[in-house]
Amino acid sequence: MNSTEIKVLYSNNIMQTYARFDVVVDRGEGATVWSPEGKEYIDFTSGIGVNCLGYGNKKWAEAIYTQALKLGHMSNLFYTEPGAKLAQELIERTGLSAVFFANSGGEANEGMIKLARKYSFDKYGKGRDRIVTLVQSFHGRTITTLAATGQDNFHNYFFPFTEGFSHAKANDIGDVKSAVTGQTCAVMVELIQGEGGVLPLDQGFVKELAEFCKEKDVLLLLDEVQTGIGRTGSLFAFQQYGILPDALTFAKGIAGGLPMGGVIAGEKCAAVLTAGTHAATFGGNPIAAAAALEVMSQLTPELLDGVRKKGEYIKDAIKSWSLPAVLEIRGMGLMLGVSVKGIPKDIAAKCIDKGLLMLTAGSDAIRMLPPLIISYEEIDKGLAILKNVLEEVK
Ligand SMILES: *Cc1c(COP(=O)(O)O)cnc(C)c1O
Repeated sequence: MNSTEIKVLYSNNIMQTYARFDVVVDRGEGATVWSPEGKEYIDFTSGIGVNCLGYGNKKWAEAIYTQALKLGHMSNLFYTEPGAKLAQELIERTGLSAVFFANSGGEANEGMIKLARKYSFDKYGKGRDRIVTLVQSFHGRTITTLAATGQDNFHNYFFPFTEGFSHAKANDIGDVKSAVTGQTCAVMVELIQGEGGVLPLDQGFVKELAEFCKEKDVLLLLDEVQTGIGRTGSLFAFQQYGILPDALTFAKGIAGGLPMGGVIAGEKCAAVLTAGTHAATFGGNPIAAAAALEVMSQLTPELLDGVRKKGEYIKDAIKSWSLPAVLEIRGMGLMLGVSVKGIPKDIAAKCIDKGLLMLTAGSDAIRMLPPLIISYEEIDKGLAILKNVLEEVK
């Protein structure tokens, strides 16, 4: 099918929930994708931080194919090998204690919220169920994770939302402390707010927050759905903050493009979710788990080191242009935001038109989440397009 035919089927048959860019993507190799007509695009998006190994990764494809032939799915009432190995790998590489497998970020966060509430219920009884999240956060699209999201524009239409969430200011420990009451069971944060604008939390704030939570027996929950799986240059971002959370969630990059998410709990709350209290039919599916194992095996120290270096390379390049359109560059590793003069969505659309897939974040930024394996040649091609577009911003 050509691009026009595909777009017609979308407009006739699919709910119009996305303001899609005018591009059909047909295939990819490395960090480059092509339309059905053969137009080339450098990918600075990874399908929103998902395709960490890029496109056409042979070992990843083989892991999926081999597992699909062997055993495509089995219910969680039985044991299977890929999920067992993946959980062991995640535990060894985080220092946390137990994994629950889900299928997406929102679903993983739902699980972590249930875990926090039950931890408190088991220990303190009913009523200590409030969760503090941060202003400008994003935690998902389910009714509960929308309530957890600290942006007012997400709190519309779908009333009633789940009760029990309040939002404190990021990087303001005083505001978090006053939001936490005797009824609070957890504080949940992204270490770098992704959708909110690529806004990193300060090291000092995070350390104080971790100490405060520990002292109050309030669980520190990290939403690492976007920051996890090598994105910031370490397997999880918390590993660069010098703290250990009580629990975290992962999704996006974990299986390199197949749907998977999950919760990893530390010692304190590893045994909270007991038989019958939580479940997911597809959770830990053998094909997704086999893909994730391959992702984990390719996320070597060398690759993670490369992520940090490529991130610095991109930051340095953009700074060196000294363009008036660039107001600020934020982020870590290959999770970067550029606060721009002009409308981010328009700038992204211009980049895309010229052959560079680009995202936006918050109200002021364009966002880059390239595949972790992107080559310097692809980075240079992408940056040349970005420079060209930013030079035109008046
Ligand atoms: C993308 C994202 C989610 C939601 O993940 P889905 O897989 O779309 O449900 C939640 N939290 C953060 C930080 C995200 O970036």
